[in-house]
Amino acid sequence: MVRKVVVVGGGTAGWMAAAALGKALGTRLDITLIESDDIGTVGVGEATIPSIQEFNQMLGIDENEFLRAVNGTFKLGIRFIDWKAPGSEYFHPFGVYGIDMGVNFTHHWMRYRKAGGNADFGLFNPQTMAARSHRFGRMAEINPKAPRVNYAFHFDATLYARFLRRFCEGLGVVRHEGKITHVNQDPNSGDITSVALEDGRVMAGDLFIDCSGFRGLLIEQTLKSGYEDWSKWLPCNRAAAVPCDKVGPATPYTTSTAREAGWQWRIPLQHRTGNGYVFSSDYISEDDASTLLLQRLDGKAQAEPRIIRFLTGHRKQMWNRNVIAMGLASGFLEPLESTSIFLVQEAIVTLIKYFPKDGILPSQRACFNRDLLAAYDNVKDFLIAHYKVTTRDDTPFWAYVKNMDIPESLKFRLEAFAQNNQCLVQGDELFKEASWFAVLVGQGMEPDSYNPLADVMAEDEFRWRIDRLREGTAGLASTMPSHESYIARTCPSL
Ligand code: FAD
Repeated sequence: MVRKVVVVGGGTAGWMAAAALGKALGTRLDITLIESDDIGTVGVGEATIPSIQEFNQMLGIDENEFLRAVNGTFKLGIRFIDWKAPGSEYFHPFGVYGIDMGVNFTHHWMRYRKAGGNADFGLFNPQTMAARSHRFGRMAEINPKAPRVNYAFHFDATLYARFLRRFCEGLGVVRHEGKITHVNQDPNSGDITSVALEDGRVMAGDLFIDCSGFRGLLIEQTLKSGYEDWSKWLPCNRAAAVPCDKVGPATPYTTSTAREAGWQWRIPLQHRTGNGYVFSSDYISEDDASTLLLQRLDGKAQAEPRIIRFLTGHRKQMWNRNVIAMGLASGFLEPLESTSIFLVQEAIVTLIKYFPKDGILPSQRACFNRDLLAAYDNVKDFLIAHYKVTTRDDTPFWAYVKNMDIPESLKFRLEAFAQNNQCLVQGDELFKEASWFAVLVGQGMEPDSYNPLADVMAEDEFRWRIDRLREGTAGLASTMPSHESYIARTCPSL
């Protein structure tokens, strides 16, 4: 019987895992979480994608209460600046373009475009239009029948962990503060039996969730699960991170600006702005990256930049023996599309699906590892596409990524897209047609042709529908209040 679950780590991953397991399986589990104040958490990870709404709903968390507690703002997508070429920009929104009309709307847009229509496909996406005018609204409050404006959040990572901790303690999760200095294994099976803290306390468990961050205390340092290195495709291996004072209204989007050896994030919160330069140390030094980051802030820096080192890739086994790694302990893909917290959520939901009630079966482990690897793989290809599909080769970094070899799976996808706008998305993949379209076209790749079904509609009717869609999208966005006033009314910080 799996009864005692020990979560090692109290960062975003540890508290999310404890909260979800406590909520879904709490009545039959004893859940303990161990974290070390001396070691602390990584302290970044503040932009999310819409799946976080499902996580909150699963826990029964009130969204406004949550946003107040974490100084949160809303996010409608990511604004990419200088990625295709210096001076260019595009928006990757949550949600879709237009209405499908028998075939995905992007094919209709191509018909419209090839006939001389406006090249700005953002005109057909309500999130893009709202983001451009710094507006936000939950559509369900304006018109329950209106299409859902999909959104996510920006939040303060430290406050989020604190918020989830309160939630978990309400569910009976027991927290222990202290540093784990020894891990005990069963001499026969190799399974982990307990962890020992510096002060002599010993915590035994049947199942261990390793959320100890990059160090992978159980999954790697103890079980030596191995690491698949993806840095040849995603060569950034450092981030310099620094918060700055807030200047002007909070934007309802994350900004990602391409830089000489990587890119810079800007994440607006209610009380401050988070910033970071994600870079490859092969092309710029830590000191230079930190100096340039400070020069490029729009508000006064609140600290010295902190350097975080990482290696892109994943543990070869994310579930090994009786240890399941989540969060940074399981692997890392740079935060270009804010996917790490989603991957934590995916690991949690997958674990609950295959949860080993009566002892661990090899099939449960295999299914978990297969599903999680597929999720990592899909995100990986999408991220690589941002670097590969560019006209930039103005610095050694951009020349490398533009000309690098890419995984076969991505090659195949890019070929299909270039030919006739086929995105080859499979049902359960995170990034759907609209996302591939936004990023690939935004990065400068326009397909040669489109699905002939988009030509079936008579020209007059087609024009009429396109015009109505464009007007409707602009109208929808214009009914929304400003993002700042919406926050002030519904969820101001505590
Ligand atoms: P950590 O926060 O490092 O927590 C590790 C925990 O383990 C801590 O509580 C620590 O005390 C504990 N611990 C470790 N060793 C011991 C020990 N020996 N004894 C006891 N306790 C121990 N994700 C997104 O979704 N969106 C983003 O925008 C985003 N941006 C990011 C930017 C950067 C530069 C980086 C590096 C990551 C980013 N992420 C982002 C990822 C995100 O930060 C992490 O996925 C998330 O914070 C989870 O971290 P964690 O809980 O796995 O690890």
